Amino acid sequence: MPDMRILITAGPTREPIDPVRYISNRSSGKLGAALAAAALRAGHLPTLIVGPVAEPMPAGVRRFDVETAAEMLEATLRHWPGSDLLIMAAAVADYRPSKVHQEKLHRQGAMTIECQATKDIVEAVGRIKEPHQRTIGFSLESGGGVERARQKLAAKNLDLIVYNPLTTIDSPSIQAVLIFANGRQEPLAPADKSEFAEILIRRAAALWP
Ligand code: C5P
Repeated sequence: MPDMRILITAGPTREPIDPVRYISNRSSGKLGAALAAAALRAGHLPTLIVGPVAEPMPAGVRRFDVETAAEMLEATLRHWPGSDLLIMAAAVADYRPSKVHQEKLHRQGAMTIECQATKDIVEAVGRIKEPHQRTIGFSLESGGGVERARQKLAAKNLDLIVYNPLTTIDSPSIQAVLIFANGRQEPLAPADKSEFAEILIRRAAALWP
């Protein structure tokens, strides 16, 4: 599909504990930046929804900054109706503290933080996806994860999931296996994130008949 309007989420989210501390994930935003750049080069129209990252995002890309998973969900749902494709590359925090303290907590022996699961953003989009729209997710696993990735593809109603090992975090390169909704599996050679992004954008464009 030419001229795809691509919504790309990138970076981590931060879930506040108090005004100073938060729960987050390791994520540099490098892959999101590479995907937006590759999309631009291929003549598509990327929009980035980015958590807190130091990584510069490509110039000329429409960008919305968010902090929490709830904000990323809201921004993603707001921009989804005008999009053809969602690439959910963000490392969304799975949990957020049930209570956010308004004052800085002081150190006093042991502490327990009660948490609640965040809403799954790509799954929420998968539920409202129209027949002309496609979604791509990522599955970062510490071992034996291809089967888990397949289950996530089905549970989140994805068209394609990118399985990748933990070594991807903060790394300039990625070793990925693409798993398609029709069951096809495509292992990719290790590549730097910009080469990988180009391949993924090409495979994404081919998700339409
Ligand atoms: O289930 P798991 O978190 O491993 O699935 C990873 C995929 O789901 C990624 O594409 C990630 O961006 C997305 N995700 C999400 N919302 C969450 C957690 C994960 O969209 N709250």
